[in-house]
Amino acid sequence: MKQRPSQRTTTGYRHLPSVDRVLAQEDVQALLSTYPHDLVVSLVRQELEQGRRTIADGGVAPSLAEVAAGVVQRARSLAQRWPRPVINATGVVLHTNLGRAPLSGAALQAIADVARGYSDLEYDLPEGQRGSRQSKIASLLCQVTGAEAGLAVNNNAAAVLLGLAAIASGREVIVSRGEAVEIGGRFRIPDVLAQSGATLVEVGTTNRTYLSDYEAGITERTAAILKVHASNFRVLGFTESPSLADLVALARQRGLPVLHDIGSGCLLDTAQFGLAHEPTPQESLAAGCALVFFSGDKLLGGPQAGLIVGQREVVQRLERHPLARAVRLDKLTLAALDATMRHYLKGEATQAIPIWRMIALTQEQVRLRAEAWARALGPRAELAQGLSTIGGGSLPGETLPTWLVALDAHDIPGGAQELARRLRRGEPPAVARIEEERVLLDPRTVLPEEDEGLLGVVRKALLG
Ligand SMILES: *Cc1c(COP(=O)(O)O)cnc(C)c1O
Repeated sequence: MKQRPSQRTTTGYRHLPSVDRVLAQEDVQALLSTYPHDLVVSLVRQELEQGRRTIADGGVAPSLAEVAAGVVQRARSLAQRWPRPVINATGVVLHTNLGRAPLSGAALQAIADVARGYSDLEYDLPEGQRGSRQSKIASLLCQVTGAEAGLAVNNNAAAVLLGLAAIASGREVIVSRGEAVEIGGRFRIPDVLAQSGATLVEVGTTNRTYLSDYEAGITERTAAILKVHASNFRVLGFTESPSLADLVALARQRGLPVLHDIGSGCLLDTAQFGLAHEPTPQESLAAGCALVFFSGDKLLGGPQAGLIVGQREVVQRLERHPLARAVRLDKLTLAALDATMRHYLKGEATQAIPIWRMIALTQEQVRLRAEAWARALGPRAELAQGLSTIGGGSLPGETLPTWLVALDAHDIPGGAQELARRLRRGEPPAVARIEEERVLLDPRTVLPEEDEGLLGVVRKALLG
């Protein structure tokens, strides 16, 4: 013991059982049939250490049985696989805390096939020599977006960081004050810029930035103009920003590239689903941006990735930058990304990619499913109209009309909070929304094959 314990706590420490006594407990002994002796001993030590901290904080020494139970709990949580599959009944299609986009069947198969054995990840089969791990994804990106060149990295945060480091390190980058923002998950434009070695020059005001503000911010130290899509918030009312085309025209006059972080990277027209327009990489490229950055696991519906498309010479500077190696993708993600991109190539994205299937569901289709659930669940479940959201830093404030199953939690002590907690502790765990003392289930974000599992968990939760 480093510090000298007081008289009272010394007594407390004496009440702590020895390692051997804990090990002799029946349920701790039982762990030894599954886990190595050393691991169990180390769990006992950790539990006793926690008991010591409790005593040091003025608490009571845990009993032998409590220490043993704590050890069993530690073993259980180590054995629990993670991340665990969870049923998303929230109606938030891209739920960042629940892992954003579920993958298509083809993407899952691609991951399994590549993971199982060896692959031509960096091997040119016809030539029998080293190949490129980027060229296949790059050509798919070019095919679907019309870009000259493309590059895939770990996530969009890494894409923006790499882009700024390669283009603007040691120089200045101009950003509208209204776009020097945080996009959630602590992705802050000023911080990313600082890490890239570039200096942020903010122009305009939070709500209004004119072309003349950008123009006034340009100096001989300027390396680029950065545009950032406000992907998870909206500024309404008295706002102003120049069109991308005007901004590119100004930048061209001064020999500067415009870099565009569009966030979600939607390749389809969202208007066909009654949603607001989401910027597409195609539009940014057509407007003349030198680089466009977007995520793989937002509205693209693929694995976590950061995708970069743009002008060949500019993309090449990124490829050659040392950071590119540090933020490169692994083979499993590349396989899933390749499969996802090919759904777009084949024009089958809305049928094959789960998030697009969810978004494309009509109100009528959702209602039929909600009705079937309500029938299966009995009198404590009823239909309600509501709204699904896109979420995950895409289409802020945009909703899709949906049908919900509302669960009455009146006769459950603890009410809706308790019912929702039971669902989260279910097997499989299910996450739902609570509104006005009712637990709401939105079929839109529940995969068809999850229906049975969800209904089983709900039935059990209603019973207590
Ligand atoms: C989501 C988002 C990011 C971060 O993307 P990740 O793929 O999560 O790293 C960056 N910029 C914008 C505008 C975003 O919406």
